[in-house]
This record gives sequence, structure tokens and C-alpha cells, in this order.
Amino acid sequence: DILSASEVEILKLAKQNSSELVKLKSEEKFRRDFIGNLAHELKTPIFSIQGYILTLLEGGLEDPTINKRFLQRALKGAERMNKIIIDLDMISRFESGRINLEIEENNITEICQDIFESLELKAKENKITLKFAKNYMNEILVSCDKDKIGQVIQNLVINAIKYSDPGTDVVVRFTDFETNILIEIEDNGPGINDKHISRLFERFYRVDKSRARNEGGTGLGLSIVKHIVEAHGHTVQVRSTEGKGSIFFFTLTKN
Ligand code: ADP
Repeated sequence: DILSASEVEILKLAKQNSSELVKLKSEEKFRRDFIGNLAHELKTPIFSIQGYILTLLEGGLEDPTINKRFLQRALKGAERMNKIIIDLDMISRFESGRINLEIEENNITEICQDIFESLELKAKENKITLKFAKNYMNEILVSCDKDKIGQVIQNLVINAIKYSDPGTDVVVRFTDFETNILIEIEDNGPGINDKHISRLFERFYRVDKSRARNEGGTGLGLSIVKHIVEAHGHTVQVRSTEGKGSIFFFTLTKN
């Protein structure tokens, strides 16, 4: 009858509204957390810049033993803020769909070789050897945006270098997998406990906060990796054993 039919309708609407409300609340929490995190991330470099400039103004400028050093440290703080802003800008362009990928045929071994060369010094400083799993004689052709996938590999290799123990290897492996090429970046670092894995690709999420900040990362590297790989229509994942190391892996379409 008409009455029970309208009751069903009302109940349906109420249910819809309540799930809408839950969604809005979680989005609100997400925004609040994000702004809180951002403020927190910017506080450290701003305090440090302020501190150095104040010391210089209060007489440090005339002291040749510190003036240049303090200016360099203030510059470092400014550079750190700039890095956070550049990374956030990239994420927001991905999230609002304002990034156009330039998909072309690329040789993934060459992209990776270029990244290895650009990170040679950083690897050496940390006593890490960058290696391919084997000698890839032939080209491995994939469809991708060369610069963006270069950035994915760069972020993953930088993390592998940063978090690994000196004297270990970082290994990149390519595997032919039906229509895809699987790309793995393996390290012998501390590994990551299972409880962190599901949140690892979130903005500003860090496992060991003090170590990560000391290494100068923005906490946005993996979030950018995820956006780029997903924009290519693929996914990035991690397999990790605490105390042994991690393998970050993603696929690209074979050409
Ligand atoms: P960050 O700038 O802090 O490195 P990322 O988004 O690149 O930010 O990484 C997020 C966190 O994931 C890091 O702070 C670190 O705790 C953890 N992590 C990333 N890569 C590795 C790795 N290869 N081994 C161990 N921990 C890692």
C-alpha cells in the first residue's frame, strides 16, 4: 500500500543521507589531517630559517666564524620548503586531472640507467651499489611518459639508498609478464612492518619519523609514485620483510 511504500522510500533516503554524511565526515577529517600535517611539515624549516636570520641580525653577521654557515643553513631551510611545495603542487595537479602524460615508446632499461647515473654520487656517499639484476642486453620497450616514470624510479631508488645500510646493494629487475613489464626495486634495508604497508603511500606518512626527516625527504615521494603509476593505468605495491629489506614493484604496458 501507499503508506508502507513511502515508509520504505523514507528509510532508503535516510540510509542514503547517513552514508553521505559518513563520507562527508571522513573527507572533512582528511582535509583537517592534511592541513595539520602540512603546517607541521612547514614549521620545522620556517623555525630554522627564523632562528638563523635572528642570530645574524643580533650580531652574528659580523662574526666571520658563523655568518656564512648560518646563511647556508637558512638557505637549506628555504630549499626544503620549496621542495615540499613543488611536490604538493605536482600531487594537486594529478588529483585535479591537470597533468597530461606524454605516452611514448621508451626503453625502460635506458630510463633506469640514466637514473643510476644521476644518483651515483648519492649512492657512493651512502656506500650503496646500484645494480641491475642481470645484464639486460636487449631494449625493453614500454609505453610510458619518460620523465614521469623516470621520477618514479628515481623516488624509489632514492628511498632504497636512504633507508638501506651501508655496504648493501639496490637492485632493479625487469620481468616480462604477459602484456606487461614488471619493474622491481629491491633493497636490503630495514624493511617495513605490515601494519604500515596500507598507509605507506599516503601523503606525509612516515614509518621512522626522525630518520626520514634527517634524510631530508618531504614525505611525499611515495604518494607521487602512486599517482604517476596509476595515471599510467597500473598499480604500485610493496613486499617487505622487517630486518631483511623491501621490494617496491609496478608494471607498465609492453610496447
Ligand atoms: P620520505 O620523504 O619520508 O622518504 P616517502 O613518501 O618517499 O617519504 O616514503 C614514506 C616513508 O616510507 C618513509 O619515510 C619511510 O619511513 C618509508 N620507506 C620508503 N621507502 C622505504 C624503503 N625502501 N625501506 C624502508 N622504508 C621505506
